[in-house]
Amino acid sequence: MTLQLHETVFSGDTPGTSTNLYWYTAGPEDAQTKVHLQAALHADEQPGTMALHHLLPMLAEADMVGQLKARFVIFPSVNPLGLANRSLRHHIGRYDIETGVNYNRRWPDLYPLIADTIAGKLGSNPQANIATIRAAVGARIASQTPGSAAQQLRLFVLQSAHDADIVLDLHCDDDSLMHIFTSPELMPGLQDLADWMGAAATLTAEDSGGGSF
Ligand SMILES: [Zn+2]
Repeated sequence: MTLQLHETVFSGDTPGTSTNLYWYTAGPEDAQTKVHLQAALHADEQPGTMALHHLLPMLAEADMVGQLKARFVIFPSVNPLGLANRSLRHHIGRYDIETGVNYNRRWPDLYPLIADTIAGKLGSNPQANIATIRAAVGARIASQTPGSAAQQLRLFVLQSAHDADIVLDLHCDDDSLMHIFTSPELMPGLQDLADWMGAAATLTAEDSGGGSF
């Protein structure tokens, strides 16, 4: 396989408008592991986009010589709606200007939505459990009917991420050392990533609040 560019079009909220989302895939389609990478969900936080911009040719090169062991799905600029939020020479990339909702808040907590579906179906085989849970989440996402462009985008990104083994959502701050937010159950594995990246801090929380991605 080689690095591939994909284009997904979302219909706009007013007649005659639409939004194009560009994303890439690399690595074997039948790989056991899936990696979902995205940047600029807060569309004015673009260092992550630059990081993925520089990562893409490295992935392409590794893919060409068959070195990739995982399937990569990469969204260098995952929020084209926010990227276009420009008013009076200001870029408002953090909020949906129609609703005021922070683009990285109010993502659904998926477990309560599928708890009844998977009740009694989990057993002692962890891989089978993962497959059962992902199938239920995927079906739940697929059953939704998005209305607005923002809802279409959210569902599409969720659908991509829900069955990934590794999800990295790249953000930045005005002034900070590099740091990672993750959940306690992913430690200490994520500390390896933090160390490789030279991160100054690793912050863990089961739920950091607000329904972030
Ligand atoms: Zn952010």
